[in-house]
Amino acid sequence: MRILAIFTAVLGAAALFWMTFSKPATGDDEMQGIAGKIRVYSVEDGGYIGTERVVKSDAEWKKLLSDRQYHILREQGTERAFTGEYWNHNEHGVYRCAGCGLDLYLSDTKYKSGTGWPSFYQPVAPENVKIRPDSSFFITRNELICARCGGHLGHVFDDGPAPTGKRHCINSASLIFYKLDK
Ligand code: FE
Repeated sequence: MRILAIFTAVLGAAALFWMTFSKPATGDDEMQGIAGKIRVYSVEDGGYIGTERVVKSDAEWKKLLSDRQYHILREQGTERAFTGEYWNHNEHGVYRCAGCGLDLYLSDTKYKSGTGWPSFYQPVAPENVKIRPDSSFFITRNELICARCGGHLGHVFDDGPAPTGKRHCINSASLIFYKLDK
């Protein structure tokens, strides 16, 4: 009986831990509900520009995005490997945020990681993609979010190629590709 009681207690504690820490980190103090100007890099302008943060309610995002985009960008979802539009996409251009259109990654920094997700060794500029710790699923990973709308993009890992050694593992559904002429 005592073993059963201990087992139940451990299970209860694990469930409590899970419920506390597995929630998507939607309450980002830095992003949520705070409008205002930020400085980001614009590929089209070839330099830094000032832009307004994009702040919308869940209902507004739902109207604007597809179900898949909403799940990934606003609910920290992850698409299955090898199912997205861009994991094997090799055109020359810029990948922008599917939520707000901010420039995020250049095709020049995309590489074949073999993971089934679009992978880049660096963003367009450090100002455009923010990193925050993500403690869901019992492990701490570094989540990548759009600096303008706070949309979830993916995660960054330390097993990328030179020159940065970083792997920005991004969901295709968080991106929209725009072709560049040169
Ligand atoms: Fe965005």
